[in-house]
Amino acid sequence: MAEYIWIDAHGHVRSKSKIPEDGNFKPEDLPVWNFDGSSTDQAPGDNSDVYLRPVAVYPDPMRGVPNILVLAECWNADGTPNKFNHRHECAKLMEAHAEHVPWFGLEQEYTLFDMEDRPYGWPKNGYPAPQGPYYCGVGAGRVMCRDIVDAHYKACLYAGIKISGTNAEVMPAQWEFQVGPCEGIEMGDQLWMARFLLHRVAEEFGAKISVQPKPIPGDWNGAGLHTNFSTKEMRVEGGMKHIEEAIKKLEGRHKEHIAVYGEGNEMRLTGRHETGTIDQFSYGIANRGASIRIPRECAAKGYGYFEDRRPASNADPYQITGIIMETIFGAAN
Ligand code: ADP
Ligand code: MN
Ligand code: MN
Ligand code: MN
Repeated sequence: MAEYIWIDAHGHVRSKSKIPEDGNFKPEDLPVWNFDGSSTDQAPGDNSDVYLRPVAVYPDPMRGVPNILVLAECWNADGTPNKFNHRHECAKLMEAHAEHVPWFGLEQEYTLFDMEDRPYGWPKNGYPAPQGPYYCGVGAGRVMCRDIVDAHYKACLYAGIKISGTNAEVMPAQWEFQVGPCEGIEMGDQLWMARFLLHRVAEEFGAKISVQPKPIPGDWNGAGLHTNFSTKEMRVEGGMKHIEEAIKKLEGRHKEHIAVYGEGNEMRLTGRHETGTIDQFSYGIANRGASIRIPRECAAKGYGYFEDRRPASNADPYQITGIIMETIFGAAN
């Protein structure tokens, strides 16, 4: 069984299954398929076929060997990429600047909701006690849904996702997982697959995954998609010079970055709750209230990577990693 997975017009994943013919199950051996784009807001009713072009294949942790998960790009009937196919542009940028060996590490924060759309485990009326005991918490009443988090962790490992850790977040029922470092286009592919697996695993438990950047207004932390970045030049002695040059370039295109860093991010980037403000670019060493943070350890060594803290939890990793490459190294052609 091959589960074809794609991204719809709202940043949700969709999937359907087919029995492929025997083969090596590499992307190039798998058939191009299609779906009804009028049912997903991805095409008009009178020209509704959207094509699914396989781009990456993973072992399926739900069904086991020899079944597979197939990540697919969406293409229109006229041979142009579908409006919501951000992977295509991203792949061009990654290819154009491959010599810099770009590494990304994403920290995906998310919130678990029950079927009534309340954060999982929150009291029916009112709120839990204020934030404080929940971040990296242990024990009933401090963390919710560890079973889901752990099942997802293992599913990712089975599928070959470079998941590198998980932690409970500041708001109860909010968690994070990290994927990376991944090189180039692999980052977006892996994060989308990890998102698919999260929805798919939580489905078994009757929990919903929310990637809203500010799920609960008020004194409750929002959710981000911190993006850690380095190039081959930044990772060796003298790298800090390259990190500083990159940050200068990012400063000049703050607005353009914010435009693709997620919807509703203005509710989250308030300058409070470990964020910088949305209308002002800032950076600093070990500063969690800045747009860009240089980890203390990197500053001490003089090389390493930096963290772009601006992207919201619902941003598209292809758009984030793509614009970072474009801003630092220029357009693809
Ligand atoms: P934080 O302290 O911000 O919570 P995390 O430990 O949650 O950091 O996440 C750090 C992320 O940075 C991980 O995804 C990791 O893979 C990534 N990372 C580590 N080193 C590099 C590097 N040199 N280049 C890019 N990403 C990196
Ligand atoms: Mn983190
Ligand atoms: Mn976090
Ligand atoms: Mn972080």
